Amino acid sequence: MRVAFLGLGIMGSRMAANLAGAGFELTVWNRTEAKAQAFCAEHPGVKLAGTPAQAAADSEVLVTMVVDGDQVEQVLLGEHGAGTAAKPGTLCIDCSTIGPMAARSIGEALAARGIAMVDAPVTGSSPRAQDGTLTIMAGGSDQAFERAKPVLEAMGRLIVHAGPLGHGQIVKVINNAVAATNAAVVGEALLVGARAGVDLDALTEVMGAGSGASAMLELKARAMREHDYTTLFKLDHMLKDVRLCLEEGQAAGAPFQFAALTGEILTAATGRGHGEDDFAALIEVLEATAGTKL
Ligand code: NAP
Repeated sequence: MRVAFLGLGIMGSRMAANLAGAGFELTVWNRTEAKAQAFCAEHPGVKLAGTPAQAAADSEVLVTMVVDGDQVEQVLLGEHGAGTAAKPGTLCIDCSTIGPMAARSIGEALAARGIAMVDAPVTGSSPRAQDGTLTIMAGGSDQAFERAKPVLEAMGRLIVHAGPLGHGQIVKVINNAVAATNAAVVGEALLVGARAGVDLDALTEVMGAGSGASAMLELKARAMREHDYTTLFKLDHMLKDVRLCLEEGQAAGAPFQFAALTGEILTAATGRGHGEDDFAALIEVLEATAGTKL
């Protein structure tokens, strides 16, 4: 299957590498061309495209992995966008987290060109993108999902068809609002422990084995304690996802008060200059509030 992969950032570069490894005929494009050139040098046989349109012209499937709805729209429908050159019958799989409203409107514009779309945001961060074990939640028609499945299976382990177009996005932003809130709660728990003078190794070991366990405890407690903000998932991207979740909740009339508070904490962290850091950097805001450093 000929696949055009558009967007080789932290996640996209690793996901595209798995597609190349699984034998898909890959053409890649990235806004900063040097990254795409480096990718092609590392993966012999992968073709380099100068524009999204060029990548799409001879492909059966387009995969986009950029940041937000405006970027996906630009890459697919803007000048030299992939959707302008793709043949009718092409399938588009957007793996970026862009929220359901953007997914539906881009999907409609593509449908008018005879291109079916599946929204397929991913969860699992860069280590799982690397080893091809992402969880992928997809939205789209049964037929489009079945066509997308072999591509998704090369990048992920658990692939869930969540419902019609946009439902992958809804599931994804709710999941991330919960993850970010968990991370903030873990940060505050560590600060309470530090302030109370308990051994934080003992605290995290017991929590990890008990009802206080969470993926965020496992993934972010060390980073927060060491103030190591090496970027696995940019704080600004997490803030985008929490905002998208709050928008959906507000539109549906369902409050999400904990996520709203997490959004404020992430906003404060961005204000302190941590937008490009890993979202573990939200500990800086919690430390300032508690008046204690871990
Ligand atoms: P990233 O490392 O910042 O990569 C972003 C990609 O988008 C790069 O290829 C970048 O190109 C491209 N891009 C940025 N602005 C663009 C524009 N105006 N036009 C075209 N391309 C543009 O981000 P990431 O961590 O891979 O995240 C990608 C998506 O996955 C986001 O929606 C994020 O929320 C989601 N996600 C991330 C994680 C994670 O753990 N990192 C996990 C699950 C989901 P350049 O190279 O030119 O900058």
